Amino acid sequence: MANVGLRIDGARLWRSLMDLARIGATPKGGVCRIALTDADRAGRDQVAAWCREAGLDVRVDEVGNMFARRPGTDPQARAVATGSHIDTQPSGGKFDGNFGVLAGLEVMRTLNDHGIATRAPLEVVVWTNEEGTRFTPVMMGSGAFAGVFLPDFVRAQVDGAGLAVGDELRRIGYLGEHACGEVPGGGYAAYFEAHIEQGPVLEDAGLPIGVVSGALGQRWFDVTVTGMDAHAGPTPMALRRDAMLGAARMVEAVHRIALAEAPHGRGTVGHLQVLPNSRNVIPGEVHFSVDLRNLTDEGLDRMEAALRTQLVQIAGDTRVAVELRQVVQFDACHFDAACVASVRRAAELLGLPHMDVVSGAGHDAVYVAQVAPTGMVFVPCKDGISHNEIENALPEHIEAGANVLLLAMLERAG
Ligand SMILES: [Zn+2]
Repeated sequence: MANVGLRIDGARLWRSLMDLARIGATPKGGVCRIALTDADRAGRDQVAAWCREAGLDVRVDEVGNMFARRPGTDPQARAVATGSHIDTQPSGGKFDGNFGVLAGLEVMRTLNDHGIATRAPLEVVVWTNEEGTRFTPVMMGSGAFAGVFLPDFVRAQVDGAGLAVGDELRRIGYLGEHACGEVPGGGYAAYFEAHIEQGPVLEDAGLPIGVVSGALGQRWFDVTVTGMDAHAGPTPMALRRDAMLGAARMVEAVHRIALAEAPHGRGTVGHLQVLPNSRNVIPGEVHFSVDLRNLTDEGLDRMEAALRTQLVQIAGDTRVAVELRQVVQFDACHFDAACVASVRRAAELLGLPHMDVVSGAGHDAVYVAQVAPTGMVFVPCKDGISHNEIENALPEHIEAGANVLLLAMLERAG
């Protein structure tokens, strides 16, 4: 491969990250740039201006996804793309998503600096509403691109104030006309996404690069446990139907079910609602969420089966009723072997220590993987913390990740 000696400008990339982080900056050093707000518009305007300065052709699709294209020399070649998101959580950080978008821009700037033309066109993508904090579902833009959601469905989604995605896109000037999912010249030849790890594995191993082989499958459930409200004093222990006791044992069961699927099994109860939630009333009803994750769909099948059996058992033991409703399912995602190999080869060419990792979180890349060969590169973030204003990463890791992205894209774009 030609140009293996090429390197991105780490200082320029870092400066752009810090500049973008000023838009929606929070007092504690984080970023609040929620999808389709004025801050999102300002962030999009900034990224679009940088892309145009770099000579890229910017188009916007009918759900607000932004695509910035650098032409290739072969008119028949399909584009090689990269990207991520610039919307954040209400108390988000500077790097989640933003790193992937600006690393892609830095790849383009680097190629411009050296006057390098690629055979295939290159694109940087900004996906709409990855975070899902204001509008559900999460990863809305990439999901629509992959055909999982229809554009009409996406535009009809409303926030807590009743404002619709379509109206808010029009208001901020990002309701485009380009057909969602259509790429000029045909679909992508490859898609790479650079992202902070958002977990502690790389930092723990002391490695700058994670070669992401795929993402954990996820199944989310809502559970309702029903007992009987009764007075905390006069009701003897043996005669209670305590929904909280049942729920407590069920939470413990979720933990054990995940431990049985080490190292990739995950089981989390993150939300719990107790009724009537009074100090001296035995709870008659408890609602809680269950989030199960695993590397394979078979592993998830085992976890779900165990969950269903054990919840019914515990309900019987504690004289309560239980109802389980599945609300979300993401199948386990295995990235394209050739794209994963390109990321690994790039790290090796750069002499960067690396390990294979799986993503515990969802990413736009997981949806894009349904319609294009896809790979991801992770860099560590401090203490593995993300979705937090203190989210941080080291400049040398940011630079290393962007260099891996550069070489992986060049390998595929020729
Ligand atoms: Zn992200």
